[in-house]
Amino acid sequence: MRKFFEFGKISEIDVSAQRTWSGDRLFLTFDIDWANDEVIADTHRLLSESHVSATFFATHESPGIKALCEDENLEVGLHPNFNNILDGSTLNGNSDKIISDLKLIIPDAKSVRSHSTTFSSVLCSSFAKQGLTHDVNYFIPDFSEVDLKPWLNWLGITMVPYFWEDDVACIDPNVSEVSSLVRRQGIRVFDFHPIHVFLNTESLDRYERTRPLHQNPEELIKHRFEGYGTRSKLMELLEMVSPL
Ligand SMILES: [Zn+2]
Repeated sequence: MRKFFEFGKISEIDVSAQRTWSGDRLFLTFDIDWANDEVIADTHRLLSESHVSATFFATHESPGIKALCEDENLEVGLHPNFNNILDGSTLNGNSDKIISDLKLIIPDAKSVRSHSTTFSSVLCSSFAKQGLTHDVNYFIPDFSEVDLKPWLNWLGITMVPYFWEDDVACIDPNVSEVSSLVRRQGIRVFDFHPIHVFLNTESLDRYERTRPLHQNPEELIKHRFEGYGTRSKLMELLEMVSPL
């Protein structure tokens, strides 16, 4: 018999209440990574058509992200980028300001995943100071065969590990099919990027060679992969949701 799942929001995870993160519950997350509003709206439409919950991690301010914030099925968290201060390309920034500037754009944010999953104990203290309660920076791939569960860290932040990421699935042959991953034990958090959903990315070469078109959705859509790619995997997950 076919098993149906339901999708939750990351901030709904309560470590002590297992029903909030295991059993039939799956989590869809999306790193926005400065995607064009049309690219964001494309993923937003797919989720709305399936009436599912999901968590987005925002990098910037835009009408497309505002629309996500206004959708009660969705959660919008923060996706701060610390790369420019780490590599020295920005000399006048600091991590506290990067987080607080983003929090001003998404004042209700509760969850965070850094761009490039940058994490440290210092950053975690800053997340807590800004009122963030759930961190999704630990990537522990499915093929590690570890049964994952969330935990509370020393600051009381709920740490939520994730086991699947769309771009890793494009480059690592060890990654399992999404249809088998949904039946794994423990917490199951999937990480997509709207740009890979839009392009239906199957190889990162498609993503790299279309870079000049990433802010030009009318042209970019001509480069959408027609076979089985990232968009197909998201659609597969959306088809597993309980019918309303
Ligand atoms: Zn990112």
